[in-house]
Amino acid sequence: MKKSETEFSSSRRETMKKLALGSTAGLFGLLGSPIANAQKKPIPNGYKAGMPVVKIKSVKAIATAPEGINLIVVKVETTEPGLYGLGCATFNQRAVAVVTAINSYLNDFCVGKDVDNIEDMWNSAYVSSYWRNGPVLNNALSGLDEALWDIKGKRANMPVYQLLGGKSRFAVDCYEHASGNTPEAVAESVQKYMAQGFRHIRIQQGGYGGTGALAQKPDFKAAGFGYEGDTYMNERAYLKSVPKMFEMVRKVCGDDVELLHDVHERVQPMDAINMIKAVEDYHPYFIEDPFSPENMEWFKQLRMSSSVPIAMGELFNNINEFKMPMVNQWFDYIRVHVSQIGGITPAMKIARLGEWFNIKTAFHGPGDVSPVGHSAHAHIDLAVWNFGIQEAVHFSDKLKTIFTGCPTMNNGYMSVNEVPGLGVDVNEKEAAKYPIGTKSNWQVRKSDGTIIRP
Ligand code: MG
Repeated sequence: MKKSETEFSSSRRETMKKLALGSTAGLFGLLGSPIANAQKKPIPNGYKAGMPVVKIKSVKAIATAPEGINLIVVKVETTEPGLYGLGCATFNQRAVAVVTAINSYLNDFCVGKDVDNIEDMWNSAYVSSYWRNGPVLNNALSGLDEALWDIKGKRANMPVYQLLGGKSRFAVDCYEHASGNTPEAVAESVQKYMAQGFRHIRIQQGGYGGTGALAQKPDFKAAGFGYEGDTYMNERAYLKSVPKMFEMVRKVCGDDVELLHDVHERVQPMDAINMIKAVEDYHPYFIEDPFSPENMEWFKQLRMSSSVPIAMGELFNNINEFKMPMVNQWFDYIRVHVSQIGGITPAMKIARLGEWFNIKTAFHGPGDVSPVGHSAHAHIDLAVWNFGIQEAVHFSDKLKTIFTGCPTMNNGYMSVNEVPGLGVDVNEKEAAKYPIGTKSNWQVRKSDGTIIRP
């Protein structure tokens, strides 16, 4: 039978009275329950009814270059003996600057603070320099952020992916990187990775922008212009080579393997658009970084011209750079360098934003990310619904003597261990054997010597 209007009003009046008395416990019949009793006592540190307060004792950088790539890991030590966290702060090209930011600034900022309040720590560290969003400080912040998640996992006795919502999949599907100086060599490399179980393979002929496939000497070298390590890129040759490479790989390797390609922002926007149109028939899984971050407005033209899926964002170092392109659905895959935007906390925000627009993750996972960073990627990849693909990683034996508990690869999938936290540890004595360097060569030029971005 339907409740009468009078009965309805009377029960509503009762409810309103209880609310007006400020007694939510009374409303839910909890008076005398353990929850109500706990609410009577002021809890000095938020939720921590049962856990001791743990403070940060020190924050330091561990820098190592066992393979000639500068890796930086932040170690956060706490007031609880034996409890520490590790996070990736790797910025290969400006490693010493990041080490200084960690040891001289973050340490001072963090000592004595509560290890539990990651969100507050991230935001307060982010604005504490007033000017923010630089890659050096963001990498330092990433190391701190990931180390705090590592600590939280250890305190909760759970792997970090559990704290992010648990597993959405059994393992992390990865793509491999196939290369060669000719289309035939690229196809052969693709076959090799297919035989290893990879279902997704990125194809590059002659490296990014085809720089390694050219025999001819550029005019700037003959003129003695530029620096010794500068490489040459012939944009026209590159643009013509990509559709031919796709054609050959499809012919040799078939239609089932997913093919990816990275433009690496190195050509003019309209050239990139025309090239993407030219590879449409080979149905790429995605084309990566078609434009430099300075050319974002060209996405409108690209989206009107082609339906090839696009991955973007490797060079973004401000979390806000993702917002409008994602809201406008300008790309399909979030190609973020997690340590560049400040760690797990901002990466999760970008990933969650993507879920609303069906934009998936494709985190950048190159050699200049430490095993701690690769593990952080995999923990997020396991947890978020809108995971797309992850860049595969293989750790050398030398790296594995420094870092234990690294993610593992099997049949094209990456897995993490079930150790609480991020699951990776570092042997500081071994790490110290391989000092970092300050050399950075990333200059690519046209034949007349003009610098190509990036
Ligand atoms: Mg890239």
